[in-house]
Amino acid sequence: MEVAQDISALTEHAYQAMEHAAMSQGARMPIAPPAIPTPYARWLEHLARVNEALDRTPELGVRMPADTARGLAALEAARERFRRNYKQCPGCARFIFRAARRCPCGEKF
Ligand SMILES: [Zn+2]
Repeated sequence: MEVAQDISALTEHAYQAMEHAAMSQGARMPIAPPAIPTPYARWLEHLARVNEALDRTPELGVRMPADTARGLAALEAARERFRRNYKQCPGCARFIFRAARRCPCGEKF
């Protein structure tokens, strides 16, 4: 299956990358990155660049290829899942599990 068509795998890999970024924040030791196959990692990097460009210039979205539009939807689905599972600490801005009662910085919820 072509990477751009494999929406569930793209969403999963994007979610894992977000989790890794969150876990790496303020970690004392480097955390091993998720094993994202290179073609998926490249497509996700491309989508992230498109996403940034769209933030600056929303008109670009008008002529977006269908694969890119589906990929951006996969990114958004991963972001929604991340927001459901994590919250940001008001004390230190670190992302932590939504169920956590306390942040490593000492902030309590
Ligand atoms: Zn905190």
